[in-house]
Amino acid sequence: MPVAFITHPACRRHQMGLGHPEQPARLDVIEELLHVRQLFDFLHHHDAPRASVEQLARVHPRAHIEHVAEQSPAEGLIRLDPDTVMCPETLEAALRAAGANVLATDLVIGGQVRRAFCNVRPPGHHAERAQAMGFCFFNNVAVGAAHALEAHGLERVAILDFDVHLGNGTEDIFRGDRRVLICSSFQYPLYPGQNPGSVPGHIVNCPLPPGAGSEAFRSAVTRHWLPALEEFAPQMLFISAGFDGHAADDMAELRLSTADYAWITDLASGVADRHARGRIVSTLEGGYELSALAASAVAHIDRLMTG
Ligand SMILES: [Zn+2]
Repeated sequence: MPVAFITHPACRRHQMGLGHPEQPARLDVIEELLHVRQLFDFLHHHDAPRASVEQLARVHPRAHIEHVAEQSPAEGLIRLDPDTVMCPETLEAALRAAGANVLATDLVIGGQVRRAFCNVRPPGHHAERAQAMGFCFFNNVAVGAAHALEAHGLERVAILDFDVHLGNGTEDIFRGDRRVLICSSFQYPLYPGQNPGSVPGHIVNCPLPPGAGSEAFRSAVTRHWLPALEEFAPQMLFISAGFDGHAADDMAELRLSTADYAWITDLASGVADRHARGRIVSTLEGGYELSALAASAVAHIDRLMTG
């Protein structure tokens, strides 16, 4: 069964300012390496649609959606938060990034593909219910997970977040919603400066100290994520795929390797195969050192295709 690759040209037109690490080239280097590895032609390619207000409103108050739309500048840059900047193309990119998750969810649940990767920006996992922050405007993965629950009637979905930063937005949105199991690993201390602890059977947070490395990462995931996932038996998996924990990425100091991203993809695939008919929707979050990002994301996509 094929894997979908969903993106949109608008996601390349979103700019946060010259020299900003969250840059359009991030998407390009992933596609280029997929070509080099001769994987690109084996993926099913789709343009991301815009998420509708109704789809966004499952996880964001309408006032937040309207606020982001109203702030959209006709020219120049406008700052929604110290780290989160809009240019005239940002709103369109943010709608397509969230819409990619809706399409991915429809394709995977509809059985057209087994898995999907959304090569989109802006990222989403810092976007809280009512707050754009940390390069994020709408919570792309949360929009997809809510679509699986509300439009397709799934009863249990898991969200795995291995970005080096805590996915505070995703936890803000789903905290208390027992249909969702969130498994997260992140460096602490680090942005966004929260270490909220775990809620058994619902939120599994694995903070890791700077310098932790592969062994500590894999051990935490094996000891804490895996039993929770087996117990929860999700009907579908979503992945917030951030690659900024890589040793070559100076955004943080977790010191992970490209092989760690292949490893965790295999782990997710195993859970998906045992409980969720193999269904995984994965979405790009962070990852800023371009060659490490490309290598890690392509290792991840490769394992989604073969695992
Ligand atoms: Zn990150």
